[in-house]
Formats: sequence, C-alpha cells, structure tokens
Amino acid sequence: MQDSIFLKIIRREIPATIEFEDDEVIAIHDINPVAPIHILIIPKKLIPTANDIQPEDAPLVGKMFLVAKQIAAAKGLSERGYRLVMNVGKDGGQTVYHIHLHLIGGKALPFATA
Ligand code: AMP
Repeated sequence: MQDSIFLKIIRREIPATIEFEDDEVIAIHDINPVAPIHILIIPKKLIPTANDIQPEDAPLVGKMFLVAKQIAAAKGLSERGYRLVMNVGKDGGQTVYHIHLHLIGGKALPFATA
C-alpha cells in the first residue's frame, strides 16, 4: 500500500502544526517555510501527483482551494494577496508525492517563472 509523509502526519505518527482539519483535508505549517505564512493544504486521500487526479476527485480538489481561501482570510491575507502553488513531478520540484497546495504569503513575493 502506498504511504506518504503526509499520511504519517494525518495518522499522528509524525508531529506537525495543524492549522485546519476535517474528514477530507488537513492543513499544516510547512516545516521549511519560504515566507512568514507557508501552509500546506493536503487531501487525506493519497493522490500522488496532479497527473493522478481523476474526475471524481474534482470536489476534493475544489475543497482544497476553499480551505486555502478560508485560511488566507483567517490570516488576513485576502486583500494583500498570497500565492497558491502545486508542484508537479520532478521538473516541477515536487518532493512529496501526495498532492498539496502551498499557501504562501505575508510578504510581497517575487514573480517566479522557474
Ligand atoms: P513539494 O516540494 O511541492 O512536494 O512540497 C513539499 C513540502 O513539504 C516542502 O515545502 C517541505 O518543506 C514540506 N514538508 C516536508 N516534510 C514535512 C513535514 N514533516 N512537516 C511539514 N512540512 C513538510
């Protein structure tokens, strides 16, 4: 059976700072933040990469964005803005093969093309 570091966090086998959790999604503080606010929004279902998202996952993936928006609002980021990123595969810089949205904010972010 496939496993991931995020499943270990969900099962409380590895500690994390949890920002939000319900039966479908967990949001944790990134262990290596690149900005004052860096939170990962993770589905509890293990989907390895964006390439593996199926049509039936659309509500779950949509919910990841709704949770991100909610956390951004709670952190006071809605007006000033923030970045939502999903890295995909090796060239995309993905290191954990369990999809997650990075919510990054709290400072002006340089435009990144690569
Ligand atoms: P990515 O490179 O897009 O796959 O993002 C993986 C992210 O997970 C990186 O930003 C890591 O810093 C973060 N990360 C890895 N292990 C942990 C952990 N145990 N707790 C919190 N964040 C983690």
